Amino acid sequence: AAKKAGRNRYAWFDRSMERAIQARNEIETGLRNAIPQGQIVPYFEQQIDLATGALAGFEVLARWEHPLRGLIEPDQFIPIAEETGLIADLSMSVMRQAFIAARDWDPDLVLAVNISPWQLKDAWLAQKIIKLLLETGFPARRLEIEITESALFDNLALAQSIAVSLKNQGIRLALDDFGTGYSSLAHLRALPFDRIKIDKCFVGSIAEKLESAAIVGAIARLGDSLNMPTTAEGVEDADTLERLRVMGCARAQGYHFGRPVSAANVRRLLAERRLIAQGPQRLAG
Ligand code: C2E
Ligand code: MG
Ligand code: MG
Ligand code: MG
Repeated sequence: AAKKAGRNRYAWFDRSMERAIQARNEIETGLRNAIPQGQIVPYFEQQIDLATGALAGFEVLARWEHPLRGLIEPDQFIPIAEETGLIADLSMSVMRQAFIAARDWDPDLVLAVNISPWQLKDAWLAQKIIKLLLETGFPARRLEIEITESALFDNLALAQSIAVSLKNQGIRLALDDFGTGYSSLAHLRALPFDRIKIDKCFVGSIAEKLESAAIVGAIARLGDSLNMPTTAEGVEDADTLERLRVMGCARAQGYHFGRPVSAANVRRLLAERRLIAQGPQRLAG
């Protein structure tokens, strides 16, 4: 009986592995069609200026509007897109849609776009982004590119040359998820960053943990003295927000200000605040 149970256990293990592989394959083949079909769309998360309380802009976050499964979050498909090399097409498609959506919003609003480490291996990345700006008519000065620390290990020389090309066009660079992974203060000097994004794992606990508060405060001061203003991510309540303001963080984002929303919902939000040129489109007739 024991032997039988053991065999069954292996059979179960095989089946669950099989299911996992099948689910992964489904996402992979689905993704290949989803990108050209426009199912991968940009969502927008508000970024707030803490000195004035004004809307500074949005972080662009990919979402998969799956016809059967509904909205799928990036942690379900970005890693697979990276493994299969689909990430380049995916990110470019999301960026293009975001530029087109945002070009007639208030001209002071910035878009912060994520670049995956894998994309920094493409020697033509800067040229591709600049071409996309020209094609869509979105101004370079309104674009900020977010790069994670892990992106800097593989080929620093190439990352540096890409960064210089982007900066020469007036595009800004932000160091994303600072403080997590293989953090090193050396990374702050590796590329000409304009901004540091403090990871939500510290921000979320500054009200409860003295250590988190000390770390966030230190990063905010460090950013100030390096002339790299900080953005705190993952702000979920007013108390955290007030603490960040006192610590001297320049910007904040997080569910406290609202979840990431579609371009159509951004238009509604901006129309309410009169931050859009022509307001919501009126129906003809
Ligand atoms: P990230 O760039 O660090 O983005 C911040 C993530 O934190 C987003 O998750 C956002 O929805 C989430 N977040 C924001 N505010 C809060 C909060 O108050 N509480 C909590 N718990 N979470 C919050 P999301 O959208 O699932 O994105 C995950 C990651 O996927 C991003 O991390 C980014 O690295 C990657 N990603 C998203 N879109 C793209 C894309 O178009 N291209 C590339 N290459 N990567 C992308
Ligand atoms: Mg998520
Ligand atoms: Mg980011
Ligand atoms: Mg981040």
